[in-house]
Amino acid sequence: MNKFEQLGLNESLLRAITDLGFENPSEVQEKAIPLLLEKDTDIVALAQTGTGKTAAFGFPLIQKIDPENRNTQALILSPTRELCLQITNEIKLYAKYIKGLHTVAVYGGASITEQAREVKRGAQIIVATPGRMQDMINRGLVDVSKIDYCILDEADEMLNMGFYDDIVNILSTSPDDKSTWLFSATMPQEVARIAKEFMRKPLEITVGHKNSGSSTVSHEFYLVNARDRYEALKRLADANPDIFSVVFCRTKRDTQAVAEKLIEDGYNAAALHGDLSQAQRDSVMKSFRNRQIQMLVATDVAARGIDVDNVTHVINYQLPDEVETYNHRSGRTGRAGKLGTSIVIITKSELRKISAIERIIKQKFEEKTIPSGMEICEIQLFHLANRIKDVEVDHEIDSYLPAIYEVMKDLSKEELIKKMVSVEFNRFINYYKKNRDLSAQSAGERGERGAARPNDSGAVRYFINIGSRDNYDWMSLKDFLRDTLGLGRDDVFKVDVKEGFSFFNTDAEHSEKVLDILNSFQMDGRRINVEISKNDGRDNNSGRRDHNNRGGGFKRGGSDRGFERGNRNSGERRGGSSYGEGRSGARNSSPGGRPPRRGDSAAPRDRKPRRN
Ligand code: ADP
Ligand code: MG
Repeated sequence: MNKFEQLGLNESLLRAITDLGFENPSEVQEKAIPLLLEKDTDIVALAQTGTGKTAAFGFPLIQKIDPENRNTQALILSPTRELCLQITNEIKLYAKYIKGLHTVAVYGGASITEQAREVKRGAQIIVATPGRMQDMINRGLVDVSKIDYCILDEADEMLNMGFYDDIVNILSTSPDDKSTWLFSATMPQEVARIAKEFMRKPLEITVGHKNSGSSTVSHEFYLVNARDRYEALKRLADANPDIFSVVFCRTKRDTQAVAEKLIEDGYNAAALHGDLSQAQRDSVMKSFRNRQIQMLVATDVAARGIDVDNVTHVINYQLPDEVETYNHRSGRTGRAGKLGTSIVIITKSELRKISAIERIIKQKFEEKTIPSGMEICEIQLFHLANRIKDVEVDHEIDSYLPAIYEVMKDLSKEELIKKMVSVEFNRFINYYKKNRDLSAQSAGERGERGAARPNDSGAVRYFINIGSRDNYDWMSLKDFLRDTLGLGRDDVFKVDVKEGFSFFNTDAEHSEKVLDILNSFQMDGRRINVEISKNDGRDNNSGRRDHNNRGGGFKRGGSDRGFERGNRNSGERRGGSSYGEGRSGARNSSPGGRPPRRGDSAAPRDRKPRRN
């Protein structure tokens, strides 16, 4: 009898578990499953992320649901759209041998009518984000009056995101005699309050920490303005001449764009993401292993399972949506007992994520500042001096040496060294002389630049390039924005939907987050573009608003390519894929690019022609 069978799971679940390849239950599963199967009880389960909580509630839930009854019997609430979809997928896999059991995902940003229709067709299990669920209840699109089970997954995160009221409402509208199962990584006060007020004598289980980070990895973050992200990345690379790193972005599109920019700016970089063919991916990975690529820019999915040793830095160019993903990322460095550094480039609005991550990895971050141009020049100078000292001489050069000695014969040893080093150093110092004030800004004026100017009431109005043409009305757009931004119920207001675009307001404090998150968001493959509108959203203002719109009160980036954040003035991108181009694309003169790098004309391994 296998371990899962011992927990009391039935035949169809056991078959699915075998298909999934789970051999032994995790600790939280071992503790929760028998309890939940045995009787109808409330439960509070505390376990870190990655410990298998979905199956801990999913298996017993599926076994207890009656697939012949088409009523909604269980509601699973989860904090984000991504998690909601992930749980739905897992549940479907677990229940694949159970005929008639239907699970539907309900979340903001997608058509509410379509979701309502799916629910109507008969969904015994609904997996939902609290905001959208509350709306569906309000509009009478779902019936939770007969549910037997309500599961709060990642309760701490949901409350962090301001869903307290929604959760309380949903718990109060559903039957008193249902069972409530609360799963959480931590137990902050608000979670305890929910447990106390809305649960009946919950059983409690706690499991040990499974996924605390590797102690050979140190964690650092650098606070920058959203628009300085890329510049910060370049400086970090310049300050670490021997960097061998994986750079994580949130989307394929960003991954591609960052890799392309790095290549244009002369770095050994390449993109790794799901739009590449398998052959392309293999080729990129081969170059990375050979260290022809120093900066591998990757999506989480594509980088899954990268097992390259000696990665010196993991760089979170953008933080992942799921805090737990951070662990997978940072695990790419510090392997095989080596030391590694995991770096987060972060904006002010995301700072709270750092403490969430600290709780998971059980390690503290060190806050650092992006090195100044002079610091970088200094690092590069010493790096160069050491390279000269350590370089292995190829004796092919011997025959040229007498003539070369002749050229240098009037220089003293000190002068010769000074001049040799200057050959490289001058390029760096010239570049950073021009750019010097930028580091002062990113370190000193945090949050000042790029911040929106609020109107008198402290609100900021935005333009966004989605509208009724994309099937949004003001309610569904509000839902979508709130869910995507992780904002509370009333944080998005004055939503005004036009055909091809819309306007909305938030308080000024959210503006950096709004711009940062939405501008890296894609919808059906299309880039979302959000800009601060000069139109302040005050209605009935003697036509002023129309005037502002017509007069270009909001900027759309001047062209169709205005979607491309941070690249608005750079004209066309280079065509083709960035993959595998490596340093061959170095352009020493490109304005705004990086200074040409040591070894641009020297190190043989860098000059190998690359076969794509
Ligand atoms: P949590 O919700 O605690 O963060 P998940 O339920 O998302 O964790 O599970 C994390 C990963 O572990 C998933 O990929 C899941 O498929 C896998 N997993 C869960 N239980 C087991 C098990 N018993 N054996 C092997 N893998 C498991
Ligand atoms: Mg989970």
